[in-house]
Amino acid sequence: VERSYIMIKPDGVQRGLVGEIITRFERKGFSLKGLKLFQAPKELAEEHYSELKERPFYPELVKYIVSGPVVCMVWEGPGVIASARKLIGATNPLLAEPGTIRGDFGIQSGRNVIHGSDSPDNGEREIALWFKEGELV
Ligand code: ATP
Ligand code: MG
Repeated sequence: VERSYIMIKPDGVQRGLVGEIITRFERKGFSLKGLKLFQAPKELAEEHYSELKERPFYPELVKYIVSGPVVCMVWEGPGVIASARKLIGATNPLLAEPGTIRGDFGIQSGRNVIHGSDSPDNGEREIALWFKEGELV
């Protein structure tokens, strides 16, 4: 079965969107396999987004992810990677469709509320980065 690493970013936690976001994934029908509130160390945020190292916004992105606690989740189900990205919406919240999480709750790419894995391989890579084995069911 496919799994996705979904993370509510610090702005989403600070703005009280945790329940709303979990509700959307539950209603869609995916299974929650792991969940924790976590203050990420800088090295972990850097590793998570290592593919973007050369991008001009990378230092700010890392600062953003460590600026407060995040909610780390693993959701499982057929097609969960692509489906989660549809629920989440486009990277730039101003371009994200209403009805998507970013479309409903954001206005800046640099504070876009939530992360979702972009491929099964990256999903498994990210789950291994953010969770220890015993933390998942
Ligand atoms: P994520 O990986 O967080 O789910 P994504 O897959 O939609 O987002 P990526 O291209 O992987 O988009 O970019 C990772 C994150 O980097 C974005 O979610 C956003 O927070 C930040 N980011 C991307 N592009 C920009 C930009 N032009 N300016 C500022 N931040 C950006
Ligand atoms: Mg991405």
